[in-house]
Amino acid sequence: MHRASYIFLAIFSFLLTASCSQPKSQVFSDHFFTFGTDISVSIFTHDKDLAAKGFTAIRSKFKELNSKLHPWNPGELNSLNRAIAASKKIQISPFLIGLIQAGQRFNTQSAGLFDPAIGSLVKLWKFDQAANIHTSIPSASEIANITSQRPSIADVVIDPNGYIHCENDLVRLDFGGFAKGYAADSAIKILEDLGISNAIVNAGGDLKSIGNKDGTAWMVGIRDPFSDGAIASVAINSKLSVFTSGNYERFFKKGDKTFHHIIDPETGFPTTLMASVTVIHDSGILADAAATALFVAGPDRWQQTAKSLGVNKVMLITSKKEIILTSEMDKQLTILDTAFKKTVKGIN
Ligand code: AMP
Ligand code: MG
Repeated sequence: MHRASYIFLAIFSFLLTASCSQPKSQVFSDHFFTFGTDISVSIFTHDKDLAAKGFTAIRSKFKELNSKLHPWNPGELNSLNRAIAASKKIQISPFLIGLIQAGQRFNTQSAGLFDPAIGSLVKLWKFDQAANIHTSIPSASEIANITSQRPSIADVVIDPNGYIHCENDLVRLDFGGFAKGYAADSAIKILEDLGISNAIVNAGGDLKSIGNKDGTAWMVGIRDPFSDGAIASVAINSKLSVFTSGNYERFFKKGDKTFHHIIDPETGFPTTLMASVTVIHDSGILADAAATALFVAGPDRWQQTAKSLGVNKVMLITSKKEIILTSEMDKQLTILDTAFKKTVKGIN
């Protein structure tokens, strides 16, 4: 045989062996329930065992966070809430200190609209319980008893030894507005540390992604707050978090009025002007906090709040079925239902 033919054959058989020994990349998925929602994890890789390692690590991280951060069930945050109610000092972990500090930052940046010390109001409205428990709305005086003392995460004082002191005994920390974002950040970090570079972690429609599927974007839908379908789709090719706060998540109806779980800390009432707010950002914790903050800010205050929080990819859907988008968000997503009135606005 000609020498060139030998070389060709050798290269060909090498390539054949290489392609046979490495299984084809595909999407591996895992599903479980925690944080009161369905979590799904998808990993695009050729390495099934590596994907399985990722799934196990994420499951245990979500389980750990759910118990540490539950405001009402036994765990670290619950112990802190009990200590505050009893006007006692308590030492907490650096992990919890970090989250309180993040909550304080978002609280300041949102001029108090985002306030993870909202727990007393959440409990009064019974949004900490199953949806069917509601029989009446709280009385004006019950609400005023709390709002007049304006419990705020700014009241929480952390001393250099990790002790918490809080003079406002109506403060109950409830991290429902940004815990999923923190969990998504932690999950993606776990995957990156394992060497996984293409994945998506979806917690009931809120998600964080890295990479893509062999050049094909991850496609995700954003729920239409007025129906069960999707109102928009987003193609993601890189590290991004997509978080939505909606009036459809937890709510109850009384007469012709609907009361949902996002509360204005100043009035003590669920807000009424927004149907949903979506924020896209690299950081899951920021996207999650900002979606909740902008939901409270509403159509008049969202721009200054977004600017101060440092987010520019925002979509608001008002209760009047208007879509307001920043131009950065307009570029990122495709609106699927053209019946809605759509306006693109700047945040300056
Ligand atoms: P999200 O679905 O991320 O908007 O979070 C909603 C959850 O955040 C609620 O169920 C409450 O636990 C909590 N929450 C409600 N109102 C506020 C608020 N004004 N600031 C911060 N957290 C809030
Ligand atoms: Mg949120």
